[in-house]
Amino acid sequence: MNEADSRHLASQLETIGFESTTEPKDADLVVLNTCVVRQQAENKIYGRLGSLKTAKEKNPDLTIGLMGCMVGMKEAPALKHRFPYVDVFMPPSDSTPLIDYLEHNNFLDDLRNQEQTERSLRDTIQDAKNLLPIAQRGNAITAFVPIVLGCSHACTFCIIPYRRGVERSRLPNEILTEIRTLVSQGIKEVMLLGQIVDRYGTDLENNENLSWLLREIHKIDGLERIRFLTSHPNWMTDDLLHTVGELDKVCPHIEIPVQAGNNEVLTNMRRGYTCENYRILINKIRNIIPGATINTDIIVGFPGESHEQFMDTHQLVKDVEFDKIHISKYSMRPKTIATRKMNDNVTDEEKTERRNVIDETQHEILEYKNKSLLGQTLNVLVENKKKDRWFGRTMHNKLVFFDDDRNLLGETIRVKINKTSPYSLIGDSMN
Ligand code: SAH
Repeated sequence: MNEADSRHLASQLETIGFESTTEPKDADLVVLNTCVVRQQAENKIYGRLGSLKTAKEKNPDLTIGLMGCMVGMKEAPALKHRFPYVDVFMPPSDSTPLIDYLEHNNFLDDLRNQEQTERSLRDTIQDAKNLLPIAQRGNAITAFVPIVLGCSHACTFCIIPYRRGVERSRLPNEILTEIRTLVSQGIKEVMLLGQIVDRYGTDLENNENLSWLLREIHKIDGLERIRFLTSHPNWMTDDLLHTVGELDKVCPHIEIPVQAGNNEVLTNMRRGYTCENYRILINKIRNIIPGATINTDIIVGFPGESHEQFMDTHQLVKDVEFDKIHISKYSMRPKTIATRKMNDNVTDEEKTERRNVIDETQHEILEYKNKSLLGQTLNVLVENKKKDRWFGRTMHNKLVFFDDDRNLLGETIRVKINKTSPYSLIGDSMN
């Protein structure tokens, strides 16, 4: 979501005449886009803010913007007090405060003097504000397209609803226009984003839903792949699963966080389902979409999680055999119900130990799961090069590396797998 917001902002800035630089010391403007989902992410921001403060002492003309979940909907005044050297604050997905700031602080004088009349400058600024998130920067093959903003599901551990505001679906026409534009710029794959992406449309007048939207997006010529994340188990309908199974551009890959494999912990998290519900859903996904890959998120060391309760999560991991698990150690977040009402009583050592246990099990699962792909020929959409080697993903979201002298960026190549590891595959190009 932040990546999408950053690309959007970058294209707005380019519209009003900015150019990008990889060197912060050469910049007139630096914007830090922030994530505060865990303490660790937040700590990184403090580090970066510290170095920007030093940069501003050396160059007082430097403008600093802070964007995203650290700012949220209402933290700006407190942050301004704490970080007086930051010039402008922007909530997630809203760059208007920065564009206004630039306009009102004579930042655009160069443009004003050089090429633009006052009226055309105003038009340019308006264009920048209206611009859909269509920035195509570098060699992007995949574009992130937020379709649901905010979140209204009060999981007790999660800060996102407090910082990204209430859930709201973007209008279908806006999304479809944006994707058509992206495709005309060379984008081959879109990743539809939402905190609970499978709730798309519940707040729209005509009750459009994700299944309908996928069918509409599927019709766009030139688009090759469609992915979506993150789904919540309670909103995953049979209709949606059938649609994923039927449409060849929609990747047979589901990202569906379970968070814990014990019912008491799930209740304390207020997730709204039991592990039995979750297991039934996984079976259903695999029945309706044979071969589907399934990723999940797990939090270890939630307040009050006993060793036995953790072992239930471990058992679930062994039984389900996920294709990837994002494991997080529980981290207290300001204002959340868990922080206000529960005791963060699992020690950090214990959290680390639990994370390692799941990591090791998952490593073994992926080792043999990926081995079954040995000798198979898979379609890989080539995303980029790393150390002279092309890489891309299969429809099932497996990462594949291969050597080839041709320029294959954005091509779909058949790759015969000759080596596997838990986290990637290596093969030879066949076409
Ligand atoms: N909307 C998604 C989650 C988005 S946040 C959902 O349906 O759950 C991404 C992940 O960060 C979550 O799935 C969770 O595993 C992790 N996370 C969120 N808050 C956390 C916290 N306080 N401590 C540790 N991990 C957390």
